[in-house]
Amino acid sequence: AQGFTPELARRDVPVLHRTVNGHPLIWLDNGATTQKPRQVIETLAAFYASANSNIHRGAHTMAREATEMYEAGRAAVARFLGAPSPESIVFVRGTTEAINLVAQSWGRAGLGPGDDILVPVLEHHANIVPWQRVAQETRARVVPVPLRPDGGIDQDAYADLLSMRTRLVVISHASNVLGTVPPVREMIALAHRYRALVLVDGAQAVAHFPVDVTDLDADFYTFSGHKIYGPTGIGALYAKPEILQTMAPWQSGGNMIESVSFGRTTYAPVPHRFEAGTGHIAGVTGLTSALDWLTAFDRNAVADYETRLTAYAQEALATVPGLELLGPAAGRIGVLTFTLPGHSATEIADRLDRDGIAVRAGHHCAQPALAHYGLESAARASLALYNTREEVDRLVASLLELQAG
Ligand code: PMP
Repeated sequence: AQGFTPELARRDVPVLHRTVNGHPLIWLDNGATTQKPRQVIETLAAFYASANSNIHRGAHTMAREATEMYEAGRAAVARFLGAPSPESIVFVRGTTEAINLVAQSWGRAGLGPGDDILVPVLEHHANIVPWQRVAQETRARVVPVPLRPDGGIDQDAYADLLSMRTRLVVISHASNVLGTVPPVREMIALAHRYRALVLVDGAQAVAHFPVDVTDLDADFYTFSGHKIYGPTGIGALYAKPEILQTMAPWQSGGNMIESVSFGRTTYAPVPHRFEAGTGHIAGVTGLTSALDWLTAFDRNAVADYETRLTAYAQEALATVPGLELLGPAAGRIGVLTFTLPGHSATEIADRLDRDGIAVRAGHHCAQPALAHYGLESAARASLALYNTREEVDRLVASLLELQAG
């Protein structure tokens, strides 16, 4: 791995060099999606320019090449997550689809009346609504795990809520609205004592710190390519091989079968059984390229840098009179959600946009998390490895100007 500086990363990301409303772009909407390095863009273009083919079909050279690339991508994702084998990785559209797959396949078969699904209050809607729907269908119960005042998960309440009725615990490895990084490894170990499975939503985690699903002992782990410098429309679900083996297909059609007749249809082995239809083949090559790009840096150096930048941003934002920053002081990623008295979230985002600064305003698909603070919306600046202290200073300067009227 090469050493890390944000300048090295910035050099590779073309869009960071454009202007918005006459100002150099400051992209602080990384929680929504990250910007793409040239290497990823070129990989996508190269696939369509010289390698485009469907996979697993047709005995010709390009189909074989595309299949090899696709399967090499699966192996790359497995290595990236510390998964035991490529067969434990299912390609999906993103985190939302991965969670729906688990809810509809594992959940429908495995849940029943009297079963509990524990869901922390800070979860993204993508990790709440699919569980509500499958709970309705199976007459299981979704049990919210409360937060502490600072936005951490209340670990005492969690321990109390776990029981032999708990079949599944879902947890974000990092919160997209509070930045919280819960003690996932310990939470998983505790859940396993009750023989509950644990699904970890890594959408906001994998870009920021190294993850090892084997060390975590996660049963399911999922992330989206577009939040880790890769393309939209592609993501991955990891599931422990012995669990994946027991799961029935979710979507069905081509590519997921072994043989079809009107008398009897058999399914392809895992993971192909879960990849019906033509997938995002180019997206897999782009995702592989994004993982290569990120892992060429020393990941611990990246994580250290982001932690220091986050602390710097917390201190800098605290100098804005009246600004309230949500989420824990430490043990967090650089998702900085805040309110400013006298200014709505939309007003804040609009004012910052005039200065070329992109932040998000709204409920961030986590209404229960905001409701914990009595809020319906807030502004959110979310950092990535290519952001700098100068950009944080410009954010704060614009907020001070807004405050001054
Ligand atoms: N979970 C978390 C924690 C997220 O931040 C997001 C995206 N905002 C999602 C799930 C959903 O990801 P996607 O839209 O890529 O499916």
